[in-house]
Amino acid sequence: QGYPAYSKLLVLCTLSSGGLVAYSESQPDIGTPDVDPNQKEPKKKRVVVLGTGWAGTSLLKDLDASLYDVQVVSPRNYFAFTPLLPSVTVGTVEARSIVEPIRNMVKKGRGEVKYWEAECVKIDAANNNILCRSNFGNNLVGDREFLLEYDYLVIAVGAQVNTFNTPGVMENCHFLKEVEDAQKIRRSVIDCFEMAVLPGLSEEERRKNLHFVIVGGGPTGVEFAAELHDFFEEDLVKLYPMAKDLVKISVIQSGDHILNTFDERISTFAEEKFKRDGIEVQTGCRVLSVSDKDITMKMKSNGEICSIPHGLVLWSTGIGTRPVVKDFMEQIGQAHRRVLATNEWLRVKGCDNVYAIGDCATIDQRKIKEDISSIFKAADKDNSGTLTVKEFQDVIDDLLIRYPQMELYLKSMHLSDVKDLLKDPQGNDQKEVDIEGFKLALSHVDSQMKSLPATAQVAAQQGAYLSKCLNRRLQCEENPEGPLRFRDSGRHRFRPFRYKHFGQFAPLGGEQAGAELPGDWVSVGHSSQWLWYSVYASKQVSWRTRMLVVSDWTRRFIFGRDSSRI
Ligand code: FAD
Repeated sequence: QGYPAYSKLLVLCTLSSGGLVAYSESQPDIGTPDVDPNQKEPKKKRVVVLGTGWAGTSLLKDLDASLYDVQVVSPRNYFAFTPLLPSVTVGTVEARSIVEPIRNMVKKGRGEVKYWEAECVKIDAANNNILCRSNFGNNLVGDREFLLEYDYLVIAVGAQVNTFNTPGVMENCHFLKEVEDAQKIRRSVIDCFEMAVLPGLSEEERRKNLHFVIVGGGPTGVEFAAELHDFFEEDLVKLYPMAKDLVKISVIQSGDHILNTFDERISTFAEEKFKRDGIEVQTGCRVLSVSDKDITMKMKSNGEICSIPHGLVLWSTGIGTRPVVKDFMEQIGQAHRRVLATNEWLRVKGCDNVYAIGDCATIDQRKIKEDISSIFKAADKDNSGTLTVKEFQDVIDDLLIRYPQMELYLKSMHLSDVKDLLKDPQGNDQKEVDIEGFKLALSHVDSQMKSLPATAQVAAQQGAYLSKCLNRRLQCEENPEGPLRFRDSGRHRFRPFRYKHFGQFAPLGGEQAGAELPGDWVSVGHSSQWLWYSVYASKQVSWRTRMLVVSDWTRRFIFGRDSSRI
């Protein structure tokens, strides 16, 4: 095992299989890997998957690896169950309970999947290859670069934190994206308490150390605030009695409400519960800068600027683009976008063999209006400006297949408008439907068809969808079964991706949660928390992690959380 040393010159090894592996000049110890990542035998098409998060693993779980040469590149050799990260920050759940090694996950599938612990640093779509770099942080291997060719590339690298270029945020704030972030926060919280009770500190200094500020009132920020509050009330207050009246948790939100992507009832319940718990929610505030001592913000209402001292700040305000994706977007003319635009089949626009799923991608909605017009134009064969009821219903079916987001909307308030178009003023069924009238009704829909949210639910469904397409690629090439093309002749090979929303939860601490389920079903309180426990236990990716998570919850109920700083 190991890598023989070669000279410092750039070595370009042409391997017997025809693939290329390039090594960086800057590294002292370089060599050929024991396994050639470019080996293509027996001439299977190669699918390269970037990322082992929700989207990547969901694809790998169902992908039939006996059909392809599947290679996975990710700097993280495990999958992390991100919805439980806030619980890791205070030890309600242990870090190792929410991760599953990627090698464990892929070995159970059909066929062999090769995994390379490396980061993709450059995508070269023109030459169908990617440049990868692994860094194990030691002198033995050092930075190691290699090129990997692909026939199909699946970009599932997720997103990174977004600081909106706010000064001091990168240096002085915590983030909660990765398991390491959660572990770091856990240590820092304990540090704040230990520092606050040291002898010789003024009350002001103690209060500063025990002021926990959360910037961003979305689900992650709110859940962290709730976990922190529970940790203090249930465990730390007994261990640090001196801190009892000094601890303060503040949530700073730029919008008017916290949890504003949730139903209003949940958002209101959360605000009221936080008020009762003593968690301060400051809405309508924009953070201007963060230093190691305080956080400066501006009130939107009166323009007033104020600074508040802090012990720890969690920055949780949204997501930004990873550099490798940014660079790729520049190459393919999408530089002005935040995430990669794909079509409804999840293929990156302008690239035939590159797919993008999860947080790094979005289905391009700008084309929708144009598409709706084309669909109508194609259906209105005699250019009369009207459609028969049958033609009209076909158009609606086609629109719903292409743009599933419309369904929810049509089903709710505007369905009546659409139906009205099928009736004459006397309420009798029409024989023909006026296209312009329908387009008018659709103009409301247009504004409702926003991008899909950046959630694990979307990412996992996209991964599962793409694996099905790839598994059935050959079969579908012979028998296309998807919807009719309206620009060219023939049919699409697959039906477009269709997102199914199964609802969302917001744990609010004190064994209470808000739950929003399909069909406008909203519930808040203790029963929702038990529903949350059952759903999150069932959603674990393996029986091993399920057992670990449930036993962590049980341990916490019996013994409380561990406050050691390790
Ligand atoms: P990720 O899961 O982030 O995975 C990206 C993968 O790409 C990682 O393996 C990473 O190591 C790898 N990678 C990064 N850069 C490179 C590179 N250059 N080359 C190769 N690989 C790379 N969603 C919900 O639906 N419900 C929830 O309750 C929920 N709670 C959340 C709580 C927290 C604290 C957080 C942070 C997120 C939560 N989300 C939740 C959102 C959810 O986690 C994301 O939407 C989801 O992880 C997106 O999946 P992804 O596969 O696109 O990205």
